[in-house]
Amino acid sequence: MTNKEAFRREYLRELLTPLGIKLTEQQLQQFALYQEELLSWNEKINLTALTEDKDILIKHFYDSVLGLKVGKWTGQERVLDLGTGAGFPGVPLQIVSPSLSVVLVDSLQKRVKFLQHLLSVLALDGTEAIHGRAEELGREPKLRDKFDIVVSRAVARLAVLTEYCLPFVKPGGVFLAYKGLDGQKECVEADSAIKKLGGKLLKVETFSLPEEMGTRTIISIKKLKPTPAAYPRRPGIPGKNPL
Ligand code: SAH
Repeated sequence: MTNKEAFRREYLRELLTPLGIKLTEQQLQQFALYQEELLSWNEKINLTALTEDKDILIKHFYDSVLGLKVGKWTGQERVLDLGTGAGFPGVPLQIVSPSLSVVLVDSLQKRVKFLQHLLSVLALDGTEAIHGRAEELGREPKLRDKFDIVVSRAVARLAVLTEYCLPFVKPGGVFLAYKGLDGQKECVEADSAIKKLGGKLLKVETFSLPEEMGTRTIISIKKLKPTPAAYPRRPGIPGKNPL
């Protein structure tokens, strides 16, 4: 193991300990490979603006697993990550909690290619990466109303994001929106969208990233009933004309 790899492993181990997460050798290895693949593919295709070790470890890996601190997880959930990009937060959640079954969705084919490569390198057999848009996939019977938990980070404003994500959630399940400082404000703006889509705002939790790397909020929205047939609307419409 190189010095750099040893530093990354030790640093990540220390970061996650206060969250009550103890990584096995295999999980540490998976995170180390993830970081390497991310940095090497990032030279060819645009995957992340963050390339410093600590930024990746805190703003990508640590931030992604914060969702496990919201609500009660059994560890067996079916999870969908909408607009996952290079795999955030879905891949770190899958590594830390291997009995989840995670579906990663992104509308950019190049990123989905990276994810498929990554999943095979990390031997994450239970994880699937699908290319497509929320507005279309949310109408597929195999995906609609099927997930215990849907997560999404840095994809759209909450009013738009709720129309993308809530259709995938099972009635009784939850949508977790990973947001920055403005999470609370976005909830006010998204109030009517959440209601029209059959959801209910449960809570907004605030977290501080280590090393003063910023404040994050995670918004929990419960799905009370099946999504009305009119939603999601056609590609591009939710973004142009939010509910
Ligand atoms: N969640 C990742 C990536 C954020 S960038 C992270 O936090 O790092 C936003 C991603 O959402 C992009 O990869 C983009 O291709 C995808 N995206 C945007 N609109 C989408 C839509 N309607 N359906 C599916 N993916 C979408």
